[in-house]
Amino acid sequence: MSIESPVVDVLIVGGGYGGLAAASTLYRATHSLIIFDSGVFRDAKAKPIRQIPGWDGIDSSKYRAIARAELEQTGLCSFVSAEVSTLRPEGSNLWMATTIDGQTYRGKKVILATGCEEIYPDIPGYQECWVTGIFPCMYQFGYEEHGCESAGILVVDKLAGVLPQVMKLAGDTHKFARQVYLYSNGNAEVTAQLQALAKETPFVVVIGQPIVQLVKESTRAVVTVELADKTRHVQGFLVHQPYTKLAGQLPTQLGVEITPMGDIKVQHPFPATSVPGIYAAGDCASPFKNAAMAIASGVCAGNGLARELPSSFDC
Ligand SMILES: Cc1cc2nc3c(=O)[nH]c(=O)nc-3n(C[C@H](O)[C@H](O)[C@H](O)COP(=O)(O)OP(=O)(O)OC[C@H]3O[C@@H](n4cnc5c(N)ncnc54)[C@H](O)[C@@H]3O)c2cc1C
Repeated sequence: MSIESPVVDVLIVGGGYGGLAAASTLYRATHSLIIFDSGVFRDAKAKPIRQIPGWDGIDSSKYRAIARAELEQTGLCSFVSAEVSTLRPEGSNLWMATTIDGQTYRGKKVILATGCEEIYPDIPGYQECWVTGIFPCMYQFGYEEHGCESAGILVVDKLAGVLPQVMKLAGDTHKFARQVYLYSNGNAEVTAQLQALAKETPFVVVIGQPIVQLVKESTRAVVTVELADKTRHVQGFLVHQPYTKLAGQLPTQLGVEITPMGDIKVQHPFPATSVPGIYAAGDCASPFKNAAMAIASGVCAGNGLARELPSSFDC
C-alpha cells in the first residue's frame, strides 16, 4: 500500500551534479524538496572529478555524499533512492511522482536532472576500453598520459559527421601525444576528407583500414588497434565521443520539447522546459555535458523556479 507524503515545493528527479546544485539553491530560498535518485551516474566509471576547482582528483561519489549531507541537514531536503517511473499532473497545481516500488510523492514544481547515457559504437572491444583506454575528453583525461609517442581518435559515429571538429580534437590530443592517428574504420569518404584536411598537419596520420578489434593492454591507458590488413597499432590512448541519449523515459512521458541534438529544449538563462512548471538541468538539457555546466544549470534552474513559487508568508 502506498503511503502519501506531504506536498513539497519541488520534486527533483536526479541526484547528480545538476540536481544537487538545484537543491542547494532552492533550500536557500526556503523551499522544501524531494530529490529522487536511481544512482546511475554518467561518470560512474571515472571516479576522480576533473575541472572542478577545489575538488580536482576527488572521487565523485565522495563529492555527492558531502553535498547530500549538507542538504539533509537543512531539514528542507529529503532523498529517495529510487527511480521515478511516472510523473504526471495532479489537478492544475501539483505533480505526482511514482517510484518503481509504487510510492507516490507530490510537489508543486519539477526539475528534471536525469542525465544522459552513452551509445557505444559497434566495434569489438570498445566497451572494455571505454574510460580505461578510450577517453571522451582530452582535458579530463589527457594530462595523466602526457608524453605518449602516439594516440588515436576513432572517427566514427558522431565524429564522422564533424570532421573540422575532429581536426581540433587532434590538436587537443597532440598536447599529450607526439603523433595522432585518425581511424575512419573503413569509411572511404571520411578517409578522403580527413586526408584533405590533414594535408598540412604533420603530426596527423589518417588510417582508412576497418578496425577488427580494440584490445586494452594492462599498462596505463594503452590500447592496441587491430586492423583488417592485420597491422596492429599500439596507442597510448584513444579518443572518442559516442552518441548520447536522454536517460530514461520521463522527458518523453512528460512531452517536453526536444532539440535536434536530442537534449531537452530549455530557455536561457533559467532553464524552463516547454511544459509549464517543469525545468531541466545538467546533461539532459545541454549539448555541453560536463559537471561544471551541470552545476551551473542546476543553480539557474533553482533560481528560476524559486521565482515561480510563493513565499511561505503567503501560504
Ligand atoms: C567517463 C566520464 C568521465 C567524466 N569526467 C568528468 C570530469 O572529470 N569532470 C567533469 O566536469 N565532467 C566529467 N564528465 C561529465 C559529467 O559526468 C556529466 O556532465 C555530469 O555527470 C552531468 O551531471 P548530471 O547531474 O546532469 O547527470 P548525472 O551525474 O548522470 O546524474 C543523473 C542522475 O539522475 C538519475 N536518474 C535518471 N533518471 C532517473 C529517474 N527516472 N528517477 C530517479 N533518478 C533518475 C541517475 O541515476 C543519476 O544519478 C564525465 C563523463 C564521463 C562519461
